[in-house]
Amino acid sequence: MERKGIVMDISRRSFIKGAGLAGAGFAAASLAACKSESSASDANTGESSMPSTGVNANNAPSSWDTPPEPIDDAQISEVIDTEVCILGAGVSGVVAAAVAAELGARVLVMQNKETIHSQGSGAAAFNSQRQTENFDDEFRSELVRLKSLYEGGLVNHELVSLWLDRSGEAVDWVLDRIEEDGVTASFDTYENWREADDQAKTCPISAMWGSPDSMGSMAIISALAPRAESMGAQFIYNTTARQLIREEGGEGRVVAALGEKSDGTYLRVNASKAVIVCTGGYEANDEMRDTFMPHANRFKALSDNKGEGLQMGRWVGADIDPAPHASNIHYNYLPSDPFGSGLPWLRVNKEGKRLGNEDIAYSFLPFLDIYSEEAACYQIFDADYDLYYPRMIDHGAGIFRSVPSPKFVADAVTLQTTEDTSSWSDLDKTWQYYLEMGSMVRADSLEELASQFGINYEELQKTVDRYNELYDAGNDVDFGKKPERMQAIRKAPFYGIRREACVLGTLNGLVINNRMQVLDDKRKVIPGLYAAGNASGGRFFGGIAQAMVAPATTISRALVWGYLAALDICQA
Ligand SMILES: Cc1cc2nc3c(=O)[nH]c(=O)nc-3n(C[C@H](O)[C@H](O)[C@H](O)COP(=O)(O)OP(=O)(O)OC[C@H]3O[C@@H](n4cnc5c(N)ncnc54)[C@H](O)[C@@H]3O)c2cc1C
Repeated sequence: MERKGIVMDISRRSFIKGAGLAGAGFAAASLAACKSESSASDANTGESSMPSTGVNANNAPSSWDTPPEPIDDAQISEVIDTEVCILGAGVSGVVAAAVAAELGARVLVMQNKETIHSQGSGAAAFNSQRQTENFDDEFRSELVRLKSLYEGGLVNHELVSLWLDRSGEAVDWVLDRIEEDGVTASFDTYENWREADDQAKTCPISAMWGSPDSMGSMAIISALAPRAESMGAQFIYNTTARQLIREEGGEGRVVAALGEKSDGTYLRVNASKAVIVCTGGYEANDEMRDTFMPHANRFKALSDNKGEGLQMGRWVGADIDPAPHASNIHYNYLPSDPFGSGLPWLRVNKEGKRLGNEDIAYSFLPFLDIYSEEAACYQIFDADYDLYYPRMIDHGAGIFRSVPSPKFVADAVTLQTTEDTSSWSDLDKTWQYYLEMGSMVRADSLEELASQFGINYEELQKTVDRYNELYDAGNDVDFGKKPERMQAIRKAPFYGIRREACVLGTLNGLVINNRMQVLDDKRKVIPGLYAAGNASGGRFFGGIAQAMVAPATTISRALVWGYLAALDICQA
């Protein structure tokens, strides 16, 4: 067994009840026995009678929800008994492990990679003790209203309320334990909240997390995982969770999980209390994306989770949120940068055509791009950018609707500048830095700008002429953008930034209740099965994209749901 862990000096032997088949104490149940009437599937035809999904966007049978053949006992090379089996060592999994271990449970974390893994920098909280201001009820109602509005009304208010009620406590629980390791969370403040337009508002609940060695979610889990291990939690690496075992012909408890090891044999983990699915979303599974979020299938994935947790849950009868699914979509993440991508400069495609009203909510902007040949866009502005810039920015959508200092960019994207940029504050310096990074292009004529990007120049010139005309008239009769968000594009040099939207993670999954217990399509609890983070559903997030009104809530949801799942299991 490969166990390249974070802390290697802890003996795990006492937790391993048996190796190989000897002493295994297998439960009689197997995956084959799990197929309930409603989830039975004919492997030969690929037809499935499972509820709610089962076909892809082309109405063809999907292979992802067709249960595989049960893993044969002969393929199992190792069996471990534990109380809480956690699948996935990202934010939700590691937080759940730390909580459960501290509460005295025997914990095993099964991770597909050779170490713990997660991404992202900001994680939000509502009324953490670390926040300097308390959010009042009016603020809370406004957040729920706007989140629901900008996530297409498809938001489960009960889960949102749960996050509002418990996120401060969960974040404080985590920080209380890892601040001594140098992890800090620097929270936003909310002076601009009430002034911004609805669609541009960003609730200042977010915090940038970091430690001397890592940032964001990696800082959190790099500190918490060794802590969990020191309390007896066992981390098993290079083992990909593949199947769950549900007793009583697929009607009873989930009692075990099977993981594929790098040698092709399987580890069986018997979990006497519960299995928590924390395997993230399915952003790197094209077939699942076609089924649940075809609206975003032109955007590439920036994470490699394949939805195995959702599939395993489904194969034992769990329901998955019906389409459409939301995701968090941002422009130009690494190696470029996303900052200022929501600024409402003129946006054109490679054909030189204007894409629409650039002043819509940040999370909807990428959907303007999907009808263009390359599903990307170009922000264009001229030498007078500093004249227009103050009218373009908003507190809303945070860093995406304004351009931060180069120092901030350098820190946030972990790029190194050769200069000391700490005193840089003006826009010129920021643009200069962007030019040096290669994120932005400058040209003496529109024709040259077009040629640098490969944009159709004739069309671009027509678009810019029309845009200038609308600006002069003070009325965007073409797309209805507010006059104060328009700009003229006449004065050289001209600037352009290419923007390409990416899916950072999918946000809907196994339907859960407010205890993180996984539900079937009749909304009955599947005993012994929990889900947290992006593997979980129930529509904490709704619509087609996460609304930036509640930023940094995907890491936060993972943290809070992992915390709550472990509390529920261990305090029962
Ligand atoms: C570049 C980037 C930047 C981001 N920035 C932010 C941000 O600033 N704020 C924010 O809120 N969100 C951000 N996100 C999204 C954020 O990373 C996720 O929403 C969050 O990590 C979800 O936590 P999770 O525990 O559900 O999943 P993850 O943290 O992704 O953890 C899932 C874990 O499960 C493992 N795994 C997957 N499949 C299996 C399997 N079958 N068996 C065993 N293990 C498995 C994976 O290796 C991974 O370690 C960002 C994402 C990206 C890609």
